[in-house]
Amino acid sequence: MPIERAESDPEIEPSGSDGYDVVIVGGGVSGPSAGIFTARAGMDTCILDRGPSSLARCAYLANYLGFPGGIDVSTFRALCRAHADAAGCRYISDMVLEVRQVDAGDGLDSTVERETSSDGGGDDGDEGEERAEDRAGESFVVETQDGRTIETSRVLVATKDDTTYLEALEESAMFTEASHGGETHRYFDREYVDREGRTPIPGLYVAGPLAGCPDQAIVSAGHGARVGFAVIADWLENRGYPPALARGYWDWLSKEKSRDENWKAHARAFVERTLPEEASEERVEELSSELQAHTDALFVTSEEAERRRRAGHRCLLDHVDDRVIEAYLEERE
Ligand SMILES: Cc1cc2nc3c(=O)[nH]c(=O)nc-3n(C[C@H](O)[C@H](O)[C@H](O)COP(=O)(O)OP(=O)(O)OC[C@H]3O[C@@H](n4cnc5c(N)ncnc54)[C@H](O)[C@@H]3O)c2cc1C
Repeated sequence: MPIERAESDPEIEPSGSDGYDVVIVGGGVSGPSAGIFTARAGMDTCILDRGPSSLARCAYLANYLGFPGGIDVSTFRALCRAHADAAGCRYISDMVLEVRQVDAGDGLDSTVERETSSDGGGDDGDEGEERAEDRAGESFVVETQDGRTIETSRVLVATKDDTTYLEALEESAMFTEASHGGETHRYFDREYVDREGRTPIPGLYVAGPLAGCPDQAIVSAGHGARVGFAVIADWLENRGYPPALARGYWDWLSKEKSRDENWKAHARAFVERTLPEEASEERVEELSSELQAHTDALFVTSEEAERRRRAGHRCLLDHVDDRVIEAYLEERE
């Protein structure tokens, strides 16, 4: 569920106030696909994209579901980018050079990018020190080619052809070696990643063919989405949600007319089932109202669905060659 931030709750990490909840490295297919879900769930999501791209080498996409005539790669990339923007991702054209974990007292506070900061990035004082302690062992700093230093709790790696920036993590198990033509090459080891894209480093995720899924655009998109859900589940759990609730997160839109009149009671019953027996009534109440708010937002009227249909078609037309639209209309007359 997209949950309101409850920063006074000690179980909940301070997120979004000093960087991003998740930085996605790679804006090809798997990266934006993950970002659309994390941003829609309410996570501050940044996508950094520049460098070797598998998708850019494809001549024409003929096998992506939903495009019966196929789609050219530049239009497809523009659609992916627009979709990530619409979902609320911050898309930055920049190349990641290094990802490293933050130790307490790293002295990063003066250099960290704070463009999403709710406090405008002012002096943190004691609060900054507390955050540095909270971050220890589970947060990252991302350094880029254009000189950005970005702080984040989670990094999602979606760069099929580049993992050099992970070497600063000094995790030898992440790489494996193979010999070709008498030379030894270092590769990212797919075995390092589990089925949902998690790695042994808390907060580090990998999506797309780099994580072992078949090397096709649509499979990469699906895998990116799946890893996005793992990120959301971990984020919610870290914020004190019971695992069954965190992992049961869903992002659907349903028809208002299909809404069950007992939906509020169902939401509360679900919370009661998933929280441990010793949970306080206050906690049950708090989570129930958040789940109810989430559920409520997932129903749309038929008028709203129609408004969205038209807006969606217009948005598609933005990406279609004007000359093709004109020729099409002339042919129909
Ligand atoms: C020649 C060729 C033809 C193909 N044809 C097809 C096809 O017809 N149909 C099909 O389904 N699949 C095809 N594929 C496979 C498809 O392109 C991939 O499966 C898919 O693009 C993988 O998505 P991805 O997002 O994981 O990686 P990519 O598409 O490679 O995206 C990674 C992104 O990360 C960025 N990046 C890289 N390094 C960094 C960094 N350090 N910092 C920031 N950003 C970085 C890149 O600029 C890129 O935009 C083809 C692949 C190739 C090479």
